[in-house]
Amino acid sequence: MGSQKVLCFNSKLAKNKPENIVNRDTTCPFCDTEKLTNVIDRKGSIIWLENKYPTLKDTYQTIIIETDQCHSELSEYKQTHLRDLFRFTFEKWFEMQNSGKYKSVILYKNHGPLSGGTIRHPHMQIVGLNKMDYKNKIRMEHFNGETIDQDGKVSLIISDTPLVGFTELNVKMDENDHINEIEQMSKYIQTCTHFLLNHIRCNSYNLFFYKIDEHIYVKIMPRFVTSPLFLGYSIPQMSDHKNDIIKKMKKLYFRN
Ligand SMILES: [Zn+2]
Repeated sequence: MGSQKVLCFNSKLAKNKPENIVNRDTTCPFCDTEKLTNVIDRKGSIIWLENKYPTLKDTYQTIIIETDQCHSELSEYKQTHLRDLFRFTFEKWFEMQNSGKYKSVILYKNHGPLSGGTIRHPHMQIVGLNKMDYKNKIRMEHFNGETIDQDGKVSLIISDTPLVGFTELNVKMDENDHINEIEQMSKYIQTCTHFLLNHIRCNSYNLFFYKIDEHIYVKIMPRFVTSPLFLGYSIPQMSDHKNDIIKKMKKLYFRN
């Protein structure tokens, strides 16, 4: 039996969805924690709940509210909060995968006006896909490239065959013994988001998480207006500044 190829979007539900990334006057639904409904679990200021506006059919949509600081950002979190956030989020992601209820489970994050997100308050999304396996279209070459830094079983890689284009950064980790490695992975993710937001002309990014065989991959994807070559022909582009970016990241964040 073939896998579902298109997700159906519920436009009626989407109409009532609050949005405050462009319109700053709208009150933030994630700050008003008293009014949150269908909370599944929480740890301190980190809250896992069902998405109030589940616009995608054949899915189970959940949200991780990362912090109670509305205008904070992942690149600014203290190490302890960063570690707690990723331990909690990965635990829930694995829990949904292991439940056997979904064909696959995606974990991702939107940040900034070009990311596709609608709420400014820092959050991630865990979505169970009932009939679709996200891994079908992903090829390993999309995570390959030059290693910028490595710590044990966790490495930070810049794509030389990007999925979409330009400075795509990847973090790869061996899933076994993941408790210790999640901390290193979260540090690399934070470094990448900090670099994108502060050292190249980029105000938006996505994080995409993949679990393939015994590995976990994270793609830290800078967002710009999408290239027409990619939209029309699936042709990704590579920046000719790749070597400068590697040098700059090593100098800024790593001592080699
Ligand atoms: Zn908020």
